[in-house]
Amino acid sequence: MSSTLQPDHDDAGVYRTLLESTQAIPWRIDWASARFTYIGPQIERVLGWPQGSWQTVDDWATRIHPEDRQKTVDCCVSQSLEGVDHEADYRALTADGDYVWIRDVVHVIRHADGSVDCLVGFMFDISERKRAEDKILQLQKELEALSYRDALTGVANRRMFDRILDVEWGKARALAQPLSLVIVDIDFFKQYNDRYGHPQGDACLKEVARVLDRAAARTRDLCARLGGEEFALVLPATDEAAALAVARRCAQQLARAALPHAASNVAEVVTCSMGVATIVPGSQDTPGALIDLADARLYRAKAAGRNRIAGSAG
Ligand code: GH3
Ligand code: MG
Ligand code: MG
Repeated sequence: MSSTLQPDHDDAGVYRTLLESTQAIPWRIDWASARFTYIGPQIERVLGWPQGSWQTVDDWATRIHPEDRQKTVDCCVSQSLEGVDHEADYRALTADGDYVWIRDVVHVIRHADGSVDCLVGFMFDISERKRAEDKILQLQKELEALSYRDALTGVANRRMFDRILDVEWGKARALAQPLSLVIVDIDFFKQYNDRYGHPQGDACLKEVARVLDRAAARTRDLCARLGGEEFALVLPATDEAAALAVARRCAQQLARAALPHAASNVAEVVTCSMGVATIVPGSQDTPGALIDLADARLYRAKAAGRNRIAGSAG
């Protein structure tokens, strides 16, 4: 008499059919002989190697990507010896010479005395998932790059400015070199917006950013938008005379761009005021001191009538 709760002679066939119709690839390895006693025929569909080519543990290990092999084998051996179920992700070589990401989920079957009898497990093809993960990592990198960029002008943003200024400050201090900062503010920009409209104001900011970015020409020079119509140039290993020369170049190039500004009180075209500061960082002061100094000079340039550059001498 047969019952659904009792094994009958067809069970082995049923289990085999079930095992061999799953996406996952079942397998069994005898621990003592280190040989496969079973591997599902699906393996050929996934990796291309015929079912019969999986004989020993070496057949498995040699088909693992060289960069993943040692780590994977070591992990599986040590976990198995401890009798711990485990899983491993690795790239498996296909018969075509490509690699497929595999997740191997391993169960350790032990004898009554605790020694390892055999390993049984399933291999899963996780290439699709890995591809998605790679894509996400790539997007995260792009996002990080974007988060340091000003969306409107494409130059560095305030966040990047703060970071770079910190790094350059540390370098300048270590090498006892001058670090210069130019803060640039467009004159009568509110009137520009009022006169030409906000979209044209945006176009003007882009053009000014382009001019400044070109003027900060050395490799480590940084042009950043601090916010609104205010920009900064960080000029490493640059003394005040050289920084003033860069500032003058900015003013000249902007004059050459000749962006009409009929509502300005100082010129017919868009102009800027600039504060230039240079410090050889000592152990006492901080990057904030350099910003404050450049800001104070920018304020002086504004107060003195705009469209000018103020440094230590005036
Ligand atoms: P000053 O000569 O003293 O520098 O005067 P200003 O008008 O340039 O300075 P103020 O700070 O009074 O005005 C700055 C203007 O910049 C006001 C604001 O609407 C404009 N602004 C800030 N960010 C943007 C932006 O992203 N796009 C545009 N179009 N305008 C902006
Ligand atoms: Mg302004
Ligand atoms: Mg301003």
